[in-house]
Amino acid sequence: MTNAILLAAILAACGVVIWVLWRQQDTQPSKPAEQEDARIPPLLRGINFLLSDEPDRAMKELVHVAKLQTETAEVYLALGDMFRNKGEFGRAVRIHQNLLARPDLPQHLHMQAQFALAVDFQAGGLLGRALQQYARVLDRQPGHIAALEASLRIREQSREWELAEELLQRLDRVRGSNSALHHAYLQTEMARQKLSRKDEDGALAIVQQVVEQAPGCAAAHLLLAEIDLKRGDVESAVNSMRQLHAAAPYYLPLLIPVLLSHGEAYDSHGHAFLCQCWQEKHDEQLAIAWIRAVHTARGAEEARKTAREIAFEPRSLPACLHMTAMLGKEEPLTLASRQWQSAQKNYACSECGAKFVDMRWQCPQCHEWGSIRPIKDKDSA
Ligand SMILES: [Zn+2]
Repeated sequence: MTNAILLAAILAACGVVIWVLWRQQDTQPSKPAEQEDARIPPLLRGINFLLSDEPDRAMKELVHVAKLQTETAEVYLALGDMFRNKGEFGRAVRIHQNLLARPDLPQHLHMQAQFALAVDFQAGGLLGRALQQYARVLDRQPGHIAALEASLRIREQSREWELAEELLQRLDRVRGSNSALHHAYLQTEMARQKLSRKDEDGALAIVQQVVEQAPGCAAAHLLLAEIDLKRGDVESAVNSMRQLHAAAPYYLPLLIPVLLSHGEAYDSHGHAFLCQCWQEKHDEQLAIAWIRAVHTARGAEEARKTAREIAFEPRSLPACLHMTAMLGKEEPLTLASRQWQSAQKNYACSECGAKFVDMRWQCPQCHEWGSIRPIKDKDSA
């Protein structure tokens, strides 16, 4: 995959080189022929190396082409991108910084080099410097969508939700879009952060508003139920659970451990609510998550009791393996089931297909929010 991207970048760079040479030949017919000749052989050698899948040697030749014609800033830009795609961030940074130091650099190329330098810093993990550099781009062009998107990504990655929310608002204004669900997830994260800082009222106010404005945001229903349970408002918690069950039933298993951590609420209302959900669909994943949560919170005997109460009989092979891993006797089959279980990826992104062991609300691969869901057993088999 990386090779394919690198190859594409090198091909793009070659395209730029050829275009630049061709354009110069076209627009400057009086240029001495020997200057063109000096650039053509390394270019051809570069393409040749490219075709024989030797990107390193191709790059060396292309650097030579760029040196022979110092004013071809486009070539330098393409080379910088190539170095970055190859993981050579230091060289990419130097190329783009050298470009920016040129007093004669045209305005549009100056902007491209500024942006490229920001991308270099981001790719190299220097997020603070990347943000400063994107800010320079945005100072000169406040509607630069790619710079706004990249800055938003970094703020999300650093869990700076308020700043991420501001950037998303700016993006919406520039694009003329309304990313309601994205806003809802960012605000839910803000509320979760407030809750972790013991600001329960602040968290509740935000999350109640999110649930009202974006009922499709599953994370908000979950957090609201969690806050209700913390406050001892069991009826509101059950109401939030019902809403979550209606909006996105596949996320209900995430709530069961939280419910069991509030033992009284589970005994008085939660157990009955889960029985009701189970009766509706006989969803195996719900039953397994429930029995597992009981096992963790109250031990194997209580877990067996729960399985008996709901008369749970695993019908699929994965369900059998999960149950054996949890409640089987200490014998080879149980150990093998546990091994199988620990290697399982339980969640997958519906946008990009990436699979994960743990649940998260934003996909780290495609950055989509709310796209990761539990894998149905038949999908994982
Ligand atoms: Zn994804």
